[in-house]
Amino acid sequence: MQVDYIVVGIGLAGISFCEQLRANNRTFVVFDNASQQSSTVAGGLYNPVVLKRFTPVWKCKEQLDLALPMYAKLETELNEKLDYKIPVYRKFASLEEQNDWFTASDKPILSDYLSPKIVKNENPSIDASFGFGEVLETGRIDVKALLDAYKSYLLNNNLLFESVFNYDDLKIETDSIQYGNIQAKHIVFAEGFGVKQNPFFNHLPLVPAKGELLTIHAPNLKIDYVLKAGVFLIPLGDDLYIVGATYEWKDLSAEVTNIAKEELETKIRKLVNCEFEVVNQVAGIRPTVKDRRPLVGAHPIYKNLFVLNGLGTRGVMIGPYVAQKLYNFIEKSEPLEKEIDIARFSG
Ligand SMILES: Cc1cc2nc3c(=O)[nH]c(=O)nc-3n(C[C@H](O)[C@H](O)[C@H](O)COP(=O)(O)OP(=O)(O)OC[C@H]3O[C@@H](n4cnc5c(N)ncnc54)[C@H](O)[C@@H]3O)c2cc1C
Repeated sequence: MQVDYIVVGIGLAGISFCEQLRANNRTFVVFDNASQQSSTVAGGLYNPVVLKRFTPVWKCKEQLDLALPMYAKLETELNEKLDYKIPVYRKFASLEEQNDWFTASDKPILSDYLSPKIVKNENPSIDASFGFGEVLETGRIDVKALLDAYKSYLLNNNLLFESVFNYDDLKIETDSIQYGNIQAKHIVFAEGFGVKQNPFFNHLPLVPAKGELLTIHAPNLKIDYVLKAGVFLIPLGDDLYIVGATYEWKDLSAEVTNIAKEELETKIRKLVNCEFEVVNQVAGIRPTVKDRRPLVGAHPIYKNLFVLNGLGTRGVMIGPYVAQKLYNFIEKSEPLEKEIDIARFSG
């Protein structure tokens, strides 16, 4: 079998890259062994503002301009509802925070995303006497639904091998690579935290950050916006809400923990005063990087081996952006921005 690309990993990074390949009529096959859950469990929020500091997310406009059309296109092609537009309300803890919000909403880059009006809290189940600031252009991608539908699409077209990619079996030639009976011009590794097993790219400074989320049932909560107040509370409908997430750098097991459950329950109780029941808990390992920029680029020696990783805490928005950058780098020789190029770690 001859293809243009082998893609290893079909999380948000892999899907975003495959979408570049489909848009440009490149042939490809994908390997995925479902060993990582980061995309499967993700809350799926997209939000152009860092809500701790009221600053814009890096390249937020460029990212949204690519991401939202990609998800809209997939929604149509996969015949699956994926993009739930929903406002994000940031709870204010003080008058000072309200003032900081006003100042930020006046700034040119942020004025498109921060509503200058303070939203009053009228929900008796929430304690928020200083009200909320509304973030605009936000929403939630149902990443699990996207992954399931995308994998079905790949399987139906014989493009997905649901098996581990064995690095030892890769044969690298000057202009191509060989893996079993597959010959490809290029290989793109998009394995998330799995890259730590990849002998070609495990030198990269990926910092795995485990995250856990709860799903709660709270019939009296009745909110129809995403609430951000320390944790995120994301309404799913039917009185169900996703709550999260935790950050843990030592325990990198795939399992859910009681510690995370208790931490999140405590945070919910601080935020809402109604009854709730935990109905689900999930865990995943985020592929984060110390300098908070993705890991994109070519292997320093083998020029047909590439990496697409380090999507961190915002894979929904940044995935499509970096996938396009990598595609243009490989196919159009467009240089990568220094900030995302893995070459920044070579010197
Ligand atoms: C709890 C939690 C909440 C989050 N919430 C959000 C959110 O609200 N919004 C947001 O934008 N981001 C969120 N994120 C971050 C987001 O999930 C990540 O940025 C994103 O999932 C990273 O995608 P990825 O494709 O790089 O990695 P992954 O999703 O880990 O995908 C890698 C894939 O590669 C496969 N793989 C690895 N090694 C091999 C191998 N050798 N052979 C075959 N297959 C292999 C794995 O099975 C996996 O399917 C959250 C993450 C967590 C953990």
